Amino acid sequence: MAHGCYWGKCTFCDISLDYIRNYEPITASLLVDRMEEMIAQTGQNGFHFVDEAAPPALMRALAIEIIRRKLIVSWWANIRFEKSFTRDLCLLLKASGCIAISGGLEVASDRLLTLIQKGITVAQVARVNKHFTEAGIMVHAYLMYGFPTQNEQETIDSLEMVRQLFEAGILQSAFWHLFTMTAHSPVGLDPEKYQVKKVSEAIGTFANNDIAHTDPTGADHESFSFGLKKSLLNYMHGACFDYPLQKWFDHKVPKTSIAPDYIVKAIEEDELITANPNTKVIYLSNQPKTEIITKSKKGSQWELLSLSFETKKETINIKVDVGQGNWLVQILQSASISNPKTVTLQEVKTDYENAGLQDFELFWDNKPVNTLFKAGLLQL
Ligand code: SF4
Repeated sequence: MAHGCYWGKCTFCDISLDYIRNYEPITASLLVDRMEEMIAQTGQNGFHFVDEAAPPALMRALAIEIIRRKLIVSWWANIRFEKSFTRDLCLLLKASGCIAISGGLEVASDRLLTLIQKGITVAQVARVNKHFTEAGIMVHAYLMYGFPTQNEQETIDSLEMVRQLFEAGILQSAFWHLFTMTAHSPVGLDPEKYQVKKVSEAIGTFANNDIAHTDPTGADHESFSFGLKKSLLNYMHGACFDYPLQKWFDHKVPKTSIAPDYIVKAIEEDELITANPNTKVIYLSNQPKTEIITKSKKGSQWELLSLSFETKKETINIKVDVGQGNWLVQILQSASISNPKTVTLQEVKTDYENAGLQDFELFWDNKPVNTLFKAGLLQL
Protein backbone atom coordinates (compact mmCIF):
# COMPACT_ATOMS: atom_id res chain seq x y z
CA MET A 1 0.00 0.00 0.00
CA ALA A 2 2.83 2.36 0.84
CA HIS A 3 6.59 2.51 0.75
CA GLY A 4 8.05 2.99 4.23
CA CYS A 5 6.28 3.28 7.57
CA TYR A 6 3.94 6.15 8.49
CA TRP A 7 4.92 5.77 12.16
CA GLY A 8 8.70 5.47 11.90
CA LYS A 9 9.47 5.83 15.62
CA CYS A 10 10.05 2.39 17.15
CA THR A 11 13.44 2.34 18.80
CA PHE A 12 14.31 -1.27 17.83
CA CYS A 13 13.47 -0.69 14.17
CA ASP A 14 15.72 0.39 11.28
CA ILE A 15 14.01 3.75 11.09
CA SER A 16 17.10 5.50 9.73
CA LEU A 17 16.94 3.41 6.55
CA ASP A 18 15.02 4.38 3.43
CA TYR A 19 12.70 1.35 3.44
CA ILE A 20 11.21 2.56 6.74
CA ARG A 21 11.92 6.29 6.80
CA ASN A 22 10.58 7.36 3.42
CA TYR A 23 6.84 7.09 3.68
CA GLU A 24 5.12 7.29 0.31
CA PRO A 25 1.58 5.95 0.06
CA ILE A 26 -0.30 5.57 -3.21
CA THR A 27 -3.99 6.14 -3.78
CA ALA A 28 -6.59 3.47 -3.14
CA SER A 29 -7.85 3.67 -6.72
CA LEU A 30 -4.38 3.02 -8.14
CA LEU A 31 -3.94 0.14 -5.72
CA VAL A 32 -7.19 -1.45 -6.80
CA ASP A 33 -6.31 -0.85 -10.49
CA ARG A 34 -3.17 -2.89 -9.84
CA MET A 35 -5.10 -5.60 -8.02
CA GLU A 36 -7.48 -5.88 -10.98
CA GLU A 37 -4.52 -6.13 -13.38
CA MET A 38 -2.93 -8.86 -11.28
CA ILE A 39 -6.17 -10.82 -11.11
CA ALA A 40 -6.47 -10.58 -14.90
CA GLN A 41 -2.85 -11.68 -15.39
CA THR A 42 -2.69 -14.49 -12.83
CA GLY A 43 -6.22 -15.59 -12.01
CA GLN A 44 -5.28 -15.22 -8.34
CA ASN A 45 -7.39 -13.13 -6.00
CA GLY A 46 -5.49 -13.42 -2.69
CA PHE A 47 -3.28 -10.47 -1.74
CA HIS A 48 -0.69 -10.06 0.97
CA PHE A 49 0.22 -6.40 1.49
CA VAL A 50 3.79 -6.44 2.73
CA ASP A 51 3.84 -2.97 4.30
CA GLU A 52 5.75 -2.78 7.55
CA ALA A 53 2.61 -1.11 8.92
CA ALA A 54 -0.31 -0.43 6.59
CA PRO A 55 -1.91 2.98 7.27
CA PRO A 56 -5.48 2.66 8.64
CA ALA A 57 -6.87 5.52 6.53
CA LEU A 58 -5.52 3.95 3.36
CA MET A 59 -6.86 0.54 4.42
CA ARG A 60 -10.28 2.15 4.82
CA ALA A 61 -10.08 3.79 1.39
CA LEU A 62 -8.86 0.53 -0.14
CA ALA A 63 -11.74 -1.41 1.40
CA ILE A 64 -14.31 1.09 0.11
CA GLU A 65 -12.79 0.94 -3.38
CA ILE A 66 -12.76 -2.88 -3.40
CA ILE A 67 -16.42 -3.03 -2.35
CA ARG A 68 -17.48 -0.32 -4.83
CA ARG A 69 -15.82 -2.18 -7.70
CA LYS A 70 -17.39 -5.44 -6.47
CA LEU A 71 -14.02 -7.23 -6.47
CA ILE A 72 -14.05 -10.64 -4.83
CA VAL A 73 -10.67 -10.82 -3.11
CA SER A 74 -9.12 -11.89 0.14
CA TRP A 75 -6.26 -9.95 1.62
CA TRP A 76 -4.15 -9.47 4.72
CA ALA A 77 -1.62 -6.95 5.91
CA ASN A 78 0.74 -5.95 8.70
CA ILE A 79 -0.51 -3.12 10.88
CA ARG A 80 0.14 -1.21 14.10
CA PHE A 81 -2.54 -1.83 16.72
CA GLU A 82 -3.89 1.72 16.37
CA LYS A 83 -6.93 3.04 18.21
CA SER A 84 -8.30 3.94 14.81
CA PHE A 85 -9.14 0.28 14.14
CA THR A 86 -12.62 0.75 15.52
CA ARG A 87 -15.43 -1.79 15.50
CA ASP A 88 -16.88 -0.25 12.34
CA LEU A 89 -13.59 -0.01 10.47
CA CYS A 90 -12.91 -3.68 11.20
CA LEU A 91 -16.38 -4.58 9.88
CA LEU A 92 -15.68 -2.61 6.70
CA LEU A 93 -12.29 -4.30 6.24
CA LYS A 94 -13.90 -7.70 6.67
CA ALA A 95 -16.60 -6.85 4.12
CA SER A 96 -13.88 -6.01 1.59
CA GLY A 97 -12.18 -9.40 2.01
CA CYS A 98 -9.65 -8.76 4.78
CA ILE A 99 -9.12 -12.14 6.45
CA ALA A 100 -6.20 -11.51 8.78
CA ILE A 101 -3.84 -8.91 10.15
CA SER A 102 -0.52 -9.13 11.91
CA GLY A 103 0.97 -6.51 14.17
CA GLY A 104 3.64 -5.89 16.75
CA LEU A 105 2.55 -6.21 20.35
CA GLU A 106 6.28 -6.63 21.05
CA VAL A 107 7.01 -6.73 24.78
CA ALA A 108 3.39 -6.58 26.08
CA SER A 109 4.50 -4.26 28.88
CA ASP A 110 3.46 -0.62 29.06
CA ARG A 111 6.82 0.57 30.46
CA LEU A 112 8.76 -1.10 27.66
CA LEU A 113 6.24 -0.12 24.98
CA THR A 114 6.89 3.49 25.98
CA LEU A 115 10.66 2.91 25.77
CA ILE A 116 10.15 1.41 22.32
CA GLN A 117 8.00 4.42 21.34
CA LYS A 118 5.48 2.00 19.95
CA GLY A 119 2.61 4.40 20.63
CA ILE A 120 0.31 1.69 21.99
CA THR A 121 -0.65 0.18 25.35
CA VAL A 122 -1.52 -3.43 26.08
CA ALA A 123 -5.12 -2.45 26.95
CA GLN A 124 -5.47 -0.65 23.62
CA VAL A 125 -4.15 -3.69 21.75
CA ALA A 126 -6.71 -5.83 23.57
CA ARG A 127 -9.58 -3.56 22.49
CA VAL A 128 -8.39 -3.39 18.89
CA ASN A 129 -7.95 -7.17 18.78
CA LYS A 130 -11.49 -7.57 20.04
CA HIS A 131 -12.74 -5.44 17.14
CA PHE A 132 -10.81 -7.50 14.59
CA THR A 133 -11.83 -10.82 16.13
CA GLU A 134 -15.52 -9.90 16.39
CA ALA A 135 -15.47 -8.80 12.76
CA GLY A 136 -14.08 -12.23 11.81
CA ILE A 137 -10.52 -11.09 11.03
CA MET A 138 -7.74 -13.24 12.51
CA VAL A 139 -4.99 -11.57 14.50
CA HIS A 140 -1.33 -12.59 14.64
CA ALA A 141 0.95 -10.75 17.06
CA TYR A 142 4.71 -10.35 16.86
CA LEU A 143 6.01 -10.64 20.40
CA MET A 144 9.41 -9.61 21.67
CA TYR A 145 11.44 -10.41 24.75
CA GLY A 146 14.87 -9.17 25.76
CA PHE A 147 14.38 -5.48 25.02
CA PRO A 148 17.07 -3.45 26.84
CA THR A 149 16.47 -3.27 30.61
CA GLN A 150 13.58 -5.79 30.49
CA ASN A 151 13.75 -7.64 33.79
CA GLU A 152 12.46 -11.06 34.82
CA GLN A 153 9.30 -9.65 36.32
CA GLU A 154 8.47 -7.82 33.09
CA THR A 155 9.09 -10.91 30.98
CA ILE A 156 6.75 -12.97 33.15
CA ASP A 157 4.16 -10.18 33.18
CA SER A 158 4.40 -9.99 29.41
CA LEU A 159 3.76 -13.74 29.18
CA GLU A 160 0.75 -13.31 31.48
CA MET A 161 -0.67 -10.60 29.18
CA VAL A 162 -0.27 -12.94 26.22
CA ARG A 163 -1.91 -15.80 28.15
CA GLN A 164 -4.89 -13.59 28.94
CA LEU A 165 -5.22 -12.37 25.35
CA PHE A 166 -5.44 -15.96 24.12
CA GLU A 167 -7.78 -17.01 26.91
CA ALA A 168 -10.09 -14.10 26.06
CA GLY A 169 -10.16 -15.38 22.46
CA ILE A 170 -8.94 -12.12 20.92
CA LEU A 171 -5.59 -13.35 19.62
CA GLN A 172 -5.31 -16.36 17.33
CA SER A 173 -1.61 -16.65 16.62
CA ALA A 174 1.70 -15.18 17.79
CA PHE A 175 5.46 -15.66 17.79
CA TRP A 176 8.14 -14.67 20.31
CA HIS A 177 11.25 -13.03 18.87
CA LEU A 178 14.37 -12.35 20.92
CA PHE A 179 15.26 -8.65 20.64
CA THR A 180 17.99 -8.03 18.10
CA MET A 181 20.04 -4.86 18.24
CA THR A 182 20.31 -3.69 14.67
CA ALA A 183 22.86 -1.18 13.45
CA HIS A 184 20.36 1.31 12.02
CA SER A 185 17.86 1.40 14.87
CA PRO A 186 17.86 4.09 17.60
CA VAL A 187 19.05 1.46 20.13
CA GLY A 188 21.85 0.33 17.81
CA LEU A 189 22.85 3.90 17.06
CA ASP A 190 22.88 4.99 20.73
CA PRO A 191 23.08 1.90 22.99
CA GLU A 192 24.08 3.88 26.08
CA LYS A 193 20.80 5.73 26.08
CA TYR A 194 19.09 2.33 26.47
CA GLN A 195 21.61 1.07 29.07
CA VAL A 196 23.08 -1.68 26.89
CA LYS A 197 26.67 -2.18 25.68
CA LYS A 198 27.89 -3.20 22.25
CA VAL A 199 30.06 -6.32 22.31
CA SER A 200 31.06 -6.18 18.68
CA GLU A 201 30.93 -3.60 15.93
CA ALA A 202 29.11 -4.69 12.80
CA ILE A 203 31.83 -5.59 10.34
CA GLY A 204 31.78 -6.61 6.71
CA THR A 205 30.03 -5.08 3.77
CA PHE A 206 26.73 -6.84 3.31
CA ALA A 207 23.82 -7.71 5.61
CA ASN A 208 25.97 -7.39 8.71
CA ASN A 209 23.24 -5.69 10.60
CA ASP A 210 22.98 -7.39 13.98
CA ILE A 211 25.15 -6.22 16.85
CA ALA A 212 25.99 -8.45 19.83
CA HIS A 213 25.28 -6.62 23.06
CA THR A 214 25.05 -7.06 26.81
CA ASP A 215 22.17 -5.87 28.96
CA PRO A 216 23.60 -5.42 32.48
CA THR A 217 20.35 -4.33 34.15
CA GLY A 218 18.08 -6.73 32.27
CA ALA A 219 17.29 -10.43 32.81
CA ASP A 220 19.17 -13.38 31.34
CA HIS A 221 16.84 -13.14 28.36
CA GLU A 222 17.79 -16.39 26.61
CA SER A 223 16.87 -18.44 29.67
CA PHE A 224 13.23 -17.56 28.92
CA SER A 225 13.26 -18.66 25.27
CA PHE A 226 12.08 -22.23 25.68
CA GLY A 227 9.36 -21.53 28.26
CA LEU A 228 7.92 -18.60 26.32
CA LYS A 229 7.72 -20.62 23.12
CA LYS A 230 6.34 -23.77 24.73
CA SER A 231 3.61 -21.91 26.62
CA LEU A 232 2.67 -19.98 23.48
CA LEU A 233 2.32 -23.14 21.43
CA ASN A 234 -0.10 -24.47 24.03
CA TYR A 235 -2.09 -21.24 24.24
CA MET A 236 -2.44 -21.22 20.46
CA HIS A 237 -4.09 -24.63 20.79
CA GLY A 238 -6.39 -23.32 23.51
CA ALA A 239 -4.62 -25.43 26.14
CA CYS A 240 -3.01 -24.97 29.56
CA PHE A 241 -4.41 -21.53 30.40
CA ASP A 242 -4.63 -22.70 34.00
CA TYR A 243 -0.97 -23.74 34.33
CA PRO A 244 0.99 -21.60 36.80
CA LEU A 245 3.56 -19.68 34.72
CA GLN A 246 6.40 -21.21 36.77
CA LYS A 247 5.60 -24.58 35.15
CA TRP A 248 6.97 -23.43 31.80
CA PHE A 249 10.46 -22.73 33.13
CA ASP A 250 13.08 -24.92 34.75
CA HIS A 251 14.52 -22.01 36.73
CA LYS A 252 12.77 -19.98 39.39
CA VAL A 253 10.70 -17.11 37.99
CA PRO A 254 8.76 -14.39 39.82
CA LYS A 255 4.98 -14.55 40.23
CA THR A 256 3.14 -12.33 37.79
CA SER A 257 2.07 -8.92 39.08
CA ILE A 258 -0.73 -8.63 36.50
CA ALA A 259 -4.30 -8.97 37.78
CA PRO A 260 -5.92 -12.16 36.40
CA ASP A 261 -8.74 -10.13 34.81
CA TYR A 262 -6.58 -7.35 33.35
CA ILE A 263 -7.43 -8.08 29.70
CA VAL A 264 -11.10 -8.95 30.31
CA LYS A 265 -11.53 -5.64 32.13
CA ALA A 266 -9.76 -3.75 29.33
CA ILE A 267 -12.09 -5.12 26.67
CA GLU A 268 -15.21 -4.64 28.76
CA GLU A 269 -14.46 -0.97 29.38
CA ASP A 270 -16.87 1.35 27.62
CA GLU A 271 -15.13 3.05 24.75
CA LEU A 272 -15.64 6.76 24.35
CA ILE A 273 -16.42 7.31 20.70
CA THR A 274 -16.15 11.01 20.01
CA ALA A 275 -18.58 12.11 17.35
CA ASN A 276 -16.72 13.91 14.62
CA PRO A 277 -18.77 15.84 12.04
CA ASN A 278 -16.44 14.57 9.29
CA THR A 279 -17.04 10.93 10.20
CA LYS A 280 -18.11 9.07 7.08
CA VAL A 281 -21.44 7.28 7.19
CA ILE A 282 -21.54 4.24 4.92
CA TYR A 283 -24.24 1.65 4.46
CA LEU A 284 -23.11 -1.71 3.07
CA SER A 285 -26.29 -3.77 2.76
CA ASN A 286 -29.56 -3.93 0.83
CA GLN A 287 -32.44 -1.65 1.65
CA PRO A 288 -34.63 -2.87 4.53
CA LYS A 289 -38.19 -4.12 4.14
CA THR A 290 -40.61 -1.73 5.83
CA GLU A 291 -44.05 -2.11 7.29
CA ILE A 292 -46.28 0.17 9.35
CA ILE A 293 -47.42 -1.55 12.53
CA THR A 294 -49.87 -0.47 15.21
CA LYS A 295 -48.97 -0.65 18.87
CA SER A 296 -51.44 -0.32 21.68
CA LYS A 297 -51.03 0.08 25.41
CA LYS A 298 -53.49 1.05 28.13
CA GLY A 299 -56.20 1.93 25.63
CA SER A 300 -54.10 4.19 23.41
CA GLN A 301 -52.80 3.25 19.95
CA TRP A 302 -49.97 4.56 17.83
CA GLU A 303 -48.14 3.62 14.64
CA LEU A 304 -44.50 2.64 14.23
CA LEU A 305 -42.37 1.79 11.21
CA SER A 306 -40.85 -1.67 11.37
CA LEU A 307 -37.61 -2.04 9.36
CA SER A 308 -36.19 -5.52 8.66
CA PHE A 309 -32.60 -5.93 7.52
CA GLU A 310 -31.52 -9.26 6.04
CA THR A 311 -27.86 -10.04 6.73
CA LYS A 312 -25.92 -13.22 5.95
CA LYS A 313 -26.28 -14.30 9.57
CA GLU A 314 -29.64 -13.02 10.76
CA THR A 315 -32.62 -10.74 10.27
CA ILE A 316 -32.37 -7.54 12.27
CA ASN A 317 -35.59 -5.76 13.04
CA ILE A 318 -36.05 -2.32 14.53
CA LYS A 319 -39.20 -0.31 15.21
CA VAL A 320 -39.11 3.46 15.18
CA ASP A 321 -41.36 6.48 14.85
CA VAL A 322 -42.86 6.55 11.33
CA GLY A 323 -41.40 9.96 10.39
CA GLN A 324 -37.95 9.08 11.64
CA GLY A 325 -38.17 5.64 10.03
CA ASN A 326 -39.02 7.03 6.59
CA TRP A 327 -36.14 9.49 6.91
CA LEU A 328 -33.81 6.62 7.90
CA VAL A 329 -34.76 4.61 4.80
CA GLN A 330 -33.92 7.57 2.61
CA ILE A 331 -30.59 8.25 4.39
CA LEU A 332 -29.59 4.59 3.98
CA GLN A 333 -29.98 5.11 0.23
CA SER A 334 -27.81 8.25 0.31
CA ALA A 335 -25.19 6.48 2.43
CA SER A 336 -25.12 3.33 0.30
CA ILE A 337 -21.57 2.31 -0.57
CA SER A 338 -22.59 2.01 -4.22
CA ASN A 339 -22.95 5.81 -4.40
CA PRO A 340 -19.73 7.47 -5.60
CA LYS A 341 -20.12 10.27 -3.03
CA THR A 342 -19.69 9.45 0.64
CA VAL A 343 -21.86 11.32 3.14
CA THR A 344 -20.56 12.69 6.44
CA LEU A 345 -22.21 12.59 9.84
CA GLN A 346 -22.68 16.36 9.65
CA GLU A 347 -24.55 16.02 6.34
CA VAL A 348 -26.72 13.28 7.83
CA LYS A 349 -27.55 15.51 10.79
CA THR A 350 -28.34 18.50 8.58
CA ASP A 351 -30.58 16.34 6.41
CA TYR A 352 -32.44 15.11 9.52
CA GLU A 353 -33.03 18.63 10.77
CA ASN A 354 -34.05 19.86 7.32
CA ALA A 355 -36.69 17.14 7.34
CA GLY A 356 -38.20 18.89 10.38
CA LEU A 357 -37.25 16.09 12.81
CA GLN A 358 -36.18 16.70 16.41
CA ASP A 359 -33.27 15.57 18.59
CA PHE A 360 -30.89 13.98 16.09
CA GLU A 361 -28.42 12.62 18.67
CA LEU A 362 -31.20 11.07 20.71
CA PHE A 363 -32.38 9.18 17.63
CA TRP A 364 -29.01 8.37 16.06
CA ASP A 365 -26.90 7.44 19.07
CA ASN A 366 -29.41 5.30 20.93
CA LYS A 367 -31.00 1.96 20.34
CA PRO A 368 -32.39 0.93 17.91
CA VAL A 369 -30.35 2.89 15.33
CA ASN A 370 -27.00 2.22 17.00
CA THR A 371 -27.54 -1.53 16.66
CA LEU A 372 -27.60 -1.16 12.88
CA PHE A 373 -23.82 -1.61 12.60
CA LYS A 374 -24.78 -5.32 12.57
CA ALA A 375 -26.74 -4.62 9.39
CA GLY A 376 -23.87 -2.70 7.79
CA LEU A 377 -24.53 0.92 8.81
CA LEU A 378 -21.00 2.02 9.62
CA GLN A 379 -19.44 5.22 10.92
CA LEU A 380 -15.87 5.55 9.78
S1 SF4 B 1 8.49 -1.41 14.03
FE1 SF4 B 1 6.89 -1.26 12.52
S2 SF4 B 1 5.56 0.41 13.23
FE2 SF4 B 1 7.53 0.62 14.29
S3 SF4 B 1 8.69 2.06 13.03
FE3 SF4 B 1 9.26 -0.04 12.41
S4 SF4 B 1 7.93 -0.48 10.69
FE4 SF4 B 1 7.05 1.28 11.77
